[in-house]
Amino acid sequence: MNDEKSRAALAELFFPDVEQGPSGGDPDWYEKKYPARDLPDGAAVTRLGPSPTGFIHRGNLYTAFMNEKLARETGGICFLRIEDTDRKREVAGAAEALISSLRSFGVNFDEGVAFDEETRIPSEVGDYGPYYQSERKDIYRTYVRRLVLEGRAYPCFLTEDELAEIREKQEARKENPGIYGAWARDRNPDVAVCKKKLDAGATYVIRLDADAVRGTGGEARAITLADGIRGRLTMPENVMDVVLLKSDGLPTYHFAHAIDDHLMRTTHVIRGEEWLSSLPIHAMLFQALGFAPPVYCHTTVLMKMEGETKRKLSKRKDPELSLDYYRGEGYHPRAILEYLLTVINSNFEEWRMAHPEASLDEFEMRTDKMSVSGILFDLEKLRDVSKDVLARIPAEALADFLLKWARAYRPSDFPFMAADPEILARILNIGRAGAKPRKDLAHASQIFDFIRYFFDPLFRREDRWPDQVPAEDLVPLLQDYLANFSIDDDRDLWF
Ligand code: GLU
Repeated sequence: MNDEKSRAALAELFFPDVEQGPSGGDPDWYEKKYPARDLPDGAAVTRLGPSPTGFIHRGNLYTAFMNEKLARETGGICFLRIEDTDRKREVAGAAEALISSLRSFGVNFDEGVAFDEETRIPSEVGDYGPYYQSERKDIYRTYVRRLVLEGRAYPCFLTEDELAEIREKQEARKENPGIYGAWARDRNPDVAVCKKKLDAGATYVIRLDADAVRGTGGEARAITLADGIRGRLTMPENVMDVVLLKSDGLPTYHFAHAIDDHLMRTTHVIRGEEWLSSLPIHAMLFQALGFAPPVYCHTTVLMKMEGETKRKLSKRKDPELSLDYYRGEGYHPRAILEYLLTVINSNFEEWRMAHPEASLDEFEMRTDKMSVSGILFDLEKLRDVSKDVLARIPAEALADFLLKWARAYRPSDFPFMAADPEILARILNIGRAGAKPRKDLAHASQIFDFIRYFFDPLFRREDRWPDQVPAEDLVPLLQDYLANFSIDDDRDLWF
């Protein structure tokens, strides 16, 4: 390993900006700026960290909902951080759209990136920001510089071609791909060589020196890690010199996660299963940085049945993967959340049976009751749950919901539906009052199709005269009907 002096020279060469920055190069400055949160014991600090790619995933709602619920149950905080370090995938306005969409499903954040629906102005709320990763450069660089000073990180000048060459050799020798051990050519860099490369305009990344953190080289040992949903897990420790800062100066997900969740004082990281395999990297980063790790909860993916097999949903094939689908179809947020709890917590349905009228807030979500292998998300089941939920919503509130939906998704039909909300509520109440209310209303677009004939502009005759009734009998039949019909007849008599 390089000596202290050359590491200091390296830090000076690569991070001259950091000493000039607000922290003066001292990570403790940030530790003090973002102190431990003043919250009651056991309060969970959770977060959603979406990338602003424009596609609002049903998984976003699922994790957002769990994050928010855990924070609410424990008297904690749930914040929104926008993970915009992949400039290529970024879509303008994506964060705002996400906030609106989650809000329409009843998920609200206490802190972080915010968006005012009225003024359309985005903002940031809270003392632990900036909450856009792209604005946290100095923070990342301050910590990375310290790792360089400690000999735990180094600049790496391997080019794309060199990386490809290494990969080929590794393939030929049937060795694991990646930069580790003897493949990590640029460990212990020479300052003069680095300077020459920089002067020549070469690009570089900053990598973790995994062996320096482990204190040893060679094979990965098995380590035990805890997961709030999955319990204790044994995995091989990380040996890879993972990238911390990319060549554009922005952090990788791994590094930003460690820094941000530490400084934002996150207690529970609830995130998708796809990150589970990176857990050893994160454990090592927290160790290298001297941070206490959060409780990780890796949720399982939502799958669907196709014939006999379970499969993951795909953006291309399954419109129901997008949250917009549920908004467009007009699912009531309460139905979606009720259904999510049904699939998330194995004890929820039992609880619901015992407390049919209780609000979802009264249910205590338990991470150890969560499924660990591919949950089935079944639209049929969602509709069934939704029918039960809608049956419990009073007609006036349902009319209100329907109108809001129509305003956004059926703008041309909205005016006449909205003309008399009381009539709309009465229409919706048909068959719903009484001991055995009808349970066939599932979502707004379907309800709209059921009741459209009540509105003159939409009325169209769909029934044909029955073939077995001769045409000359039609008029007398209807006259007879009108003469005998009484609005006071009960259902049995009418039939
Ligand atoms: N930006 C990451 C993603 O969208 C966040 C994962 C996390 O919650 O840590 O997958």
